[in-house]
Amino acid sequence: MTSPRNKKLQKVCRDCHRVVDGEACSICGTANLTTDWAGYLIIIDPAHSDVAQRMNITLPGRYALKVR
Ligand SMILES: [Zn+2]
Repeated sequence: MTSPRNKKLQKVCRDCHRVVDGEACSICGTANLTTDWAGYLIIIDPAHSDVAQRMNITLPGRYALKVR
């Protein structure tokens, strides 16, 4: 496992805001990714997270708060 030193280089799915390791989103299967995002969000329990429900997140994982 490598941990990226600069989170800005990490890609995020434009559709579901999920932080993606690779070239396609593991949820949407889309390659509609961006490195222009802000706010690192870790969702552990979506069912009991206000933020997750507001963002329509149903799966645990790492997400971006804002995607441009
Ligand atoms: Zn996605």
